[in-house]
Amino acid sequence: MARALLYGTAVSPGYAIGRVHLLHVAGMVEKRRIAPRQAEREQQRLRAASEAVREALREAMGKVPEDLAEYREVIAAQMELARDPKLLESAAKRIESDLICASWALDETINQLCALFDKMEDPYLRDRAQDIRAVGLRLRESLQGSRAAVAPGENCVLMAEDLSPADVMDMDFSGVQALVTAQGGPTSHTAILARGLRIPALVGLPDVLATVHEGDSVIVDGVGGVLLAGPEQDDLAQYTALRDEYTAWETRVRAAAHWPADTRDGVRVSVQANMERPEEAGEMRESGADGVGLYRTEFSFLRDVLPGERELLEEYGAVVRGVAPARVVFRTLDVGADKMMRAQSNAKEPNPALGLRGIRFCLRHRHIFRTQLRALMRVGVAGNVALMLPMISTLDEVLTVRDIMRDLHGELAARHIPHAEKLPLGVMIETPAAVLIADALARECDFFSIGTNDLIHYLLAIDRNNHQVAYLNEALHPAVVRSLKRIIDSAHREGIWVSVCGELASDPYGLALLLGMGVDAVSASPRFVPGMKHMLRRLDAATCMDLAYNVLMSADISASQRMVRERLQESLGSELAFHTTSILAHCHE
Ligand code: PEP
Ligand code: MG
Repeated sequence: MARALLYGTAVSPGYAIGRVHLLHVAGMVEKRRIAPRQAEREQQRLRAASEAVREALREAMGKVPEDLAEYREVIAAQMELARDPKLLESAAKRIESDLICASWALDETINQLCALFDKMEDPYLRDRAQDIRAVGLRLRESLQGSRAAVAPGENCVLMAEDLSPADVMDMDFSGVQALVTAQGGPTSHTAILARGLRIPALVGLPDVLATVHEGDSVIVDGVGGVLLAGPEQDDLAQYTALRDEYTAWETRVRAAAHWPADTRDGVRVSVQANMERPEEAGEMRESGADGVGLYRTEFSFLRDVLPGERELLEEYGAVVRGVAPARVVFRTLDVGADKMMRAQSNAKEPNPALGLRGIRFCLRHRHIFRTQLRALMRVGVAGNVALMLPMISTLDEVLTVRDIMRDLHGELAARHIPHAEKLPLGVMIETPAAVLIADALARECDFFSIGTNDLIHYLLAIDRNNHQVAYLNEALHPAVVRSLKRIIDSAHREGIWVSVCGELASDPYGLALLLGMGVDAVSASPRFVPGMKHMLRRLDAATCMDLAYNVLMSADISASQRMVRERLQESLGSELAFHTTSILAHCHE
């Protein structure tokens, strides 16, 4: 095949060279017209496919390990979908009315359903489209007998429209060098699986299945987010060398994961992990992280039913025990904008990103907030726990939370329920208002954590999910750089510590700059922690301080990028290429 480059999202780092193995033969829908007398037979084939798929899913369910309750939930939902009367009846009607075969009718029905779900703003409902597609694919494969072999063989790059938990349970991944899917994002099952298997993965390449074929030779660049199809000899030589170099580097970095992250000139920066589920505690400990700098608590709230205090207590208790003796910073509920609860999806807001999200939602829905705070205060008595509040824009919000906690202390004490009366309380700095009142906030808080993902978007007035304005996402924009410096200095003037828990913390450009500005801690996904610690050990805080000064003086983003890159190249050499950066993606040169 002709050489072609496809760009996607790198969700698990590394390089792989192999031959394509297609899991699903998607796109090849059988499109056959039928005579009226054949309609009943096609409808019966559809019913038989539904039974066969349910049976296969039931088998997959039996293989799910104990600790993957989430997989079990997804498979159970897919089993229900496989016999959903709306889906099957509507496809059966189409067979009869349009006189088309079962595969074709099914495909039309699935597309129509998915189009409805895809348009929904609520991410929970949008995710249902993923399940419908996965079940649709299985039904079609059952009808057409086109399911690929489950043992993909040696040196293969497994490609699929998407991978669902049931696919994962069916597969033997021993020869798989990399995963590539047309759909999916950083939190998709593909991403989680690839990180678990420690193989590179790319997601979100919509054209990939139309471009490559079974057996094609491909290169997966899981650092740069590129798939190279039909590589030439030079490409193969270059990537073979890169892959070997990367593997050796990664082994070295991982072996040193538990060493402290002291810079060359002896400055220690605490490198912590971001977590979202108790099951990630093992990965967090393995990464060498000094505790959890951000535990996102929204996930248990995004289900159909709100969690009760007991359920939250169990979840938070499991996190604290899994991370002990290190500290966990729990962020209180941050729903709204891109993380809508089901209950919220009905309350239409004209601009959710500027609406009732984070602390604003919690202070409006006090019963939900009080339940969460009670669980956190109770878990705080037994572990090393701190709290932080998202989306703060006024001092009043912090004072109100302190009042609520005083009140809850009275309530819990009256009921003789053990709890921590006081817990270290910090705020996330992610709105321009919080930057400008950082001095006042620092006097009321025990620490700051800078949420650069939101801060950059709110500062530069760009919607985090709007691709049209993604080009404006410049972490080295002077407004961002000056804000970071102002926040760090305000915290230190009041004697409190400051951490960064947004993506910028794991970006080499961001890390060098933050070190130069004197940040105390950084926190990122556990998979980045060993690399961040390794990089800090190769940097020099005094030189980074000079760098930060020069970048602060610069109003020219390209010049700032050049200065940081030169500094990083001096310290890291060719290793710089092994660290994922989003800043380079916006490079002006
Ligand atoms: C951030 O905004 O940088 C952050 C860490 O929070 P989230 O990505 O969960 O909004
Ligand atoms: Mg945020």
